[in-house]
Amino acid sequence: MEKIPFGKPHISGSELAYLQQVLDSASLSGDGAFTRKCQAWLENQLGTPKAMLTHSCTAALEMAAILSGVGPGDEVIMPSFTFVSTANAFVLRGATPVFVDIDPHSLNIDPHEIRAAITPRTRAIVVVHYAGHPCDMDAIQALCQQHGLLLIEDAAQAILTEYKGKKLGTIGDLGCLSFHETKNVISGEGGALLVNNPAFFERADVIWQKGTNRKAFFEGLVDKYTWVDVGSSYLPGELIAAFLYAQLEQAEQINQVRRGHWALYRQLLLPLAQAGYIELAEPLPAAGENAHIFHIMLPDAGQRTCLIQYLAQRAVSAVFHYIPLHSAPAGRQFGRAHGDLPHTDRVASSLLRLPLFPGMSASQVHYVCSQISQFFQCKHDPAPHSS
Ligand SMILES: *Cc1c(COP(=O)(O)O)cnc(C)c1O
Repeated sequence: MEKIPFGKPHISGSELAYLQQVLDSASLSGDGAFTRKCQAWLENQLGTPKAMLTHSCTAALEMAAILSGVGPGDEVIMPSFTFVSTANAFVLRGATPVFVDIDPHSLNIDPHEIRAAITPRTRAIVVVHYAGHPCDMDAIQALCQQHGLLLIEDAAQAILTEYKGKKLGTIGDLGCLSFHETKNVISGEGGALLVNNPAFFERADVIWQKGTNRKAFFEGLVDKYTWVDVGSSYLPGELIAAFLYAQLEQAEQINQVRRGHWALYRQLLLPLAQAGYIELAEPLPAAGENAHIFHIMLPDAGQRTCLIQYLAQRAVSAVFHYIPLHSAPAGRQFGRAHGDLPHTDRVASSLLRLPLFPGMSASQVHYVCSQISQFFQCKHDPAPHSS
């Protein structure tokens, strides 16, 4: 049996030709022809006035944190069930992440928990669209308006998912995408900042270009090119942008294949869920979600550990996900939890992600599901769990 990895990068086929174009152009630094092509694609396909390529989603989050103007004493509300970069970006500005619980069904930040965590020091809310599934944006936007808070979307996993006709990442003031190799659309490392609020256009250009007014200079708007603000080197080179463009051209097809595998998984595992062995996510809506992750929920951490081992012995790589940030050493040092986070704790110890990538075959999905069924059929003694 050939190993079924958890994920495998999809290559669209045009990457090499586009990389060759960059080599022929002998113009390798950032903000070149392919960067502009990618940015135009993102602006048109997602519907945002300004997209900026970055070298990672982490970089896009850092730009968002600088633009938000937060500093020491300011609080930023976010889920605990997320990747470290969501919080790190704001910690780097000296602000305090306030971690709140998720909704146990959507696995996304719970608007009721946000409301309860708002204090006079709250400046921004960062939502994370887990698995590419949309947060309750109407409720969260209402809270932002009511309390005068900035809304930032960590849409790292969410490219092309729609919420009420709008693409994720384009709804908040700022949105951040990832093109890391583990995401749906990739460039190895890569990301984008979506600047949806025009108030940030000008400063975003300066921060992107190392704190200089280089852009305004090249556009003939100023006659000197100089240091005007804080910033960093957040833009990727043209080779990365060329690779990414080849992927963006196929983004919809990539998501479509993923949706097919996702639906097949759900169909094949439904009997186990109906028998009470596992929990499944709600079915995907007809279109408009990107099927970034297929996960199941086990009754407890002990059974999850056993299933991971059982599948590994049968050549299937299944993996759990985040250690909640509120319980991580740096999370405790730099942030604080708002009350108890029971759903975050439970999901973190029982969620299991199954292999899902465009190059996977339907028979591989069938194989994974049959192994999971066998696991629950054969009598096994769950190993004693220590945590
Ligand atoms: C992947 C991911 C990131 C980080 O993306 P990079 O491009 O690797 O910096 C941030 N937040 C979430 C929710 C992610 O899934």
